[in-house]
Amino acid sequence: MNEADSSDIATAFRKRGFELSADLRSADAVVVNTCTVRQRAEDKAISQIGRLRKWKLERPAGKLFIMGCAAQRLGEKRLKAQFPFIDGVLGAKDLGRLEGMMDAHFKKSTRAAVAATHTPPTTIKTKNFFVSPLSACVTIMRGCSLKCSYCVVPSVRGEAVCIEPEAILAEARLKAAAGMPEIILLGQTVNAYRHGKTTFTGLLKEICAIKEVKRVRFMSPHPLFFDKAFFELLKNEPKISRYAHLPVQSGSDRILKLMRRGYTRAQYLELAANLRQAAGGSMALSTDFIVGYPGETERDFLQTLSLAREGGFSLAFCFKYSQRMVKSASLNNSFAGPRPSEALAKEDESASLSAEGGPAGLFGGNNSFAGPRPSEALAKEDGPEMKTQISVPLMKARLERLLCAVKNNSRDILRERIGKMEEVLLETATTGRTSSNFTCFTDRAGSPGEILKVKITGADKNILNGKVIR
Ligand code: SF4
Repeated sequence: MNEADSSDIATAFRKRGFELSADLRSADAVVVNTCTVRQRAEDKAISQIGRLRKWKLERPAGKLFIMGCAAQRLGEKRLKAQFPFIDGVLGAKDLGRLEGMMDAHFKKSTRAAVAATHTPPTTIKTKNFFVSPLSACVTIMRGCSLKCSYCVVPSVRGEAVCIEPEAILAEARLKAAAGMPEIILLGQTVNAYRHGKTTFTGLLKEICAIKEVKRVRFMSPHPLFFDKAFFELLKNEPKISRYAHLPVQSGSDRILKLMRRGYTRAQYLELAANLRQAAGGSMALSTDFIVGYPGETERDFLQTLSLAREGGFSLAFCFKYSQRMVKSASLNNSFAGPRPSEALAKEDESASLSAEGGPAGLFGGNNSFAGPRPSEALAKEDGPEMKTQISVPLMKARLERLLCAVKNNSRDILRERIGKMEEVLLETATTGRTSSNFTCFTDRAGSPGEILKVKITGADKNILNGKVIR
């Protein structure tokens, strides 16, 4: 999401005649787009702001803006008290005020350079600064109205708000026509999108209908929100990427319940199987795991370890639980974010995650969630387990065991692709991405943006090799 926000911020600057620069010395404005999901990310942002003091001293007319989730969490008052040289602060919830802030600081015709400090120099001239030059991110919803016990996102990004479908389609058309044939739809719970009568699946269909669009990806779906129509579309629409990042977080039902994820291990695995079946077996899944959640026993952890193998993930991002998140999550307990009503009601009774049990009934008719507000009972769910912290050495040891399992598994999953047919969207003459999101080298050259059918002949270190069939 932050990359997509950075791209939007860059666009707002470009509209005012700015150009991106990787050279701080030539910049007239600097934006630090911050993240707060982990303490380390926030610490890095704070150090970066501190280092910019020198830049500001040497260039007093230059403008320094702090944006994103950490800006939201820490607030303008606190940031300006610590760094009085900051010119503007805009939290993740307030990106809608970006244009207003720009108007306040710059004349429309201002020509200058803005340094996006994390932008690699080689991508500066490309249309999309943060992913493949042939891919375009389109944000379809902002914020999250769920209430996972460990997550700070709802409090820093606010409740889920879905963007009007017309605006999304216009942006996708524009980007595809500008030479970006892969559209990546973004949202914290992207498949929960609903605006008026437009569902996530309906939106996908319309994006696939754009002639210049050759592939559509989406990030990140939540296991609760796939519906029957989505499976049908996945079955019949080759433009939909055969890849999904589907965070599971834990393999233990007990921990999943404490996390308030709303599904069980069995339901998750059933969903994964349904996705693979609908995609004709070519679907690749990646996931997120959190280890060391308060109260996690060895038995809970072994269930996570076994899920890492059973889930057949091509990739898994593994994180240690952070005590800081406990504090954030506790704050969330007083945050009145809505919950999908049915999912909550069924949390204790093994709610079905089948297509029938999908999200359609969980939302109101407009662009916001319509579930009930969390009850006091829910807020008290954390109970004594939350106080049972896992020691840092134990957490580290579990993380290492999980990483090892994930690595071995990913290697096997990659090898299973050998002999299979894949569609490769070329990014260079001989390198591209399969629909299942693996990097693939082809034995014959083509044009960037072209889709080639290849037979996979080898796999090595997360990369596939393919023989072009046509
Ligand atoms: S679904 Fe859960 S983990 Fe994901 S953003 Fe929302 S609250 Fe956080």
